[in-house]
Amino acid sequence: MRRIYLDNNATTPVLPEILDAMRPYFIEHFGNASSIHHHGQETRAAVERARESVAQLVGCRASEIVFTSGGTEGDNLAISGLTRPGDHIITSTIEHHAVLNTCKHLESVGIEVTYIPVDGRGVVDPNDVREALRRNTRLITVMMANNETGVIQPVEQIGKIAAEADVYFHTDAVQAAGKVPLDVNRIACDLLSISGHKMHAPQGVGALYVRKGTLLQAMFHGGRHERSRRAGTENVPGIVALGKAAELAKQGFENGEVERIAGLREQIEKTVVEQVETIGVNGEGAPRVPNTTNIHFDHIEGEALVIALDLKGLAVSTGAACSSGALEPSHVLMAMGLGADQARASLRFSLGKQNTEEDVGFALGLIPSTVARLRELSPVYQKA
Ligand code: PLP
Repeated sequence: MRRIYLDNNATTPVLPEILDAMRPYFIEHFGNASSIHHHGQETRAAVERARESVAQLVGCRASEIVFTSGGTEGDNLAISGLTRPGDHIITSTIEHHAVLNTCKHLESVGIEVTYIPVDGRGVVDPNDVREALRRNTRLITVMMANNETGVIQPVEQIGKIAAEADVYFHTDAVQAAGKVPLDVNRIACDLLSISGHKMHAPQGVGALYVRKGTLLQAMFHGGRHERSRRAGTENVPGIVALGKAAELAKQGFENGEVERIAGLREQIEKTVVEQVETIGVNGEGAPRVPNTTNIHFDHIEGEALVIALDLKGLAVSTGAACSSGALEPSHVLMAMGLGADQARASLRFSLGKQNTEEDVGFALGLIPSTVARLRELSPVYQKA
């Protein structure tokens, strides 16, 4: 059975070039990067080359990159590493749970948190961030691109506000990396997290940019790896893969790959809007990353549509992978003002570098008829 995967915001397949780059670091070059002998030197050199590639992707110095196990760890390290009881954090209501639940936890240990709302397009108003500043504000953490809608936040304006107020600024760029150019100086952020498996490297590796001079309290206690910012033997194959993914991501902005993916996304949106009644694009009108579209198909249950499409070979999602299977509607879509029914009727289509025009043709051959079939079965739709 043919299977097409359009859920790349959940995770991406490792690209063959990336697998080829990491493969020698399992058997041939297996040394511990902290060892001083030949084997260690070899892997140390590979880790430092990868650090340079990741630094070039985000526009910083190699020494400002800390390798992590992924986006969740980067977000936790940035937020928990900077704040103490009595501090105040400003964040938004549409953050990933890696940020929201870190903030919730910190509230339980005496840190105050302000959650800034978004408008109907899913965008944070930088003025709201400015107005939320307090004497004890230590950190602003607002994501660069939302994982469910792809909506890009005004991080440059927020960075400016943070700099003026002399407050640290962290941005979760997990869903932005490889999709839009990143430049930590233009954003004026002090910390920025990325994750390998959202950009065709394997699951379980990521990086946190930490601006020089930013004193982070480490989360793990152990050796002095990563300049004492993240203890634990480096995941060398994963780090090499992340370095290669960073290089490919950078090339994608120059070789037309990002435009190609944007074109496929446009094709999905245009065709679905033309061929399916009572739908809408969540986040329409806002700047969005080129690979994502989130559409509400009114009068049907999103989960039912995901399952029906999956049975026909198309993998998509109702939103954040971690909330799949849960019945609560998306906190992101609710924050944008969608009703619970409309939020539950929403599906995310997210493209990756492996997707082709044929894949999109396959998807578009299924979506209108599957929606129509489910609506035929829906008593709510018949009443509408
Ligand atoms: N932040 C965002 C915006 C994400 O989309 C994700 C993953 O879905 C994460 C953080 C967590 O990253 P990881 O899966 O690497 O822990």
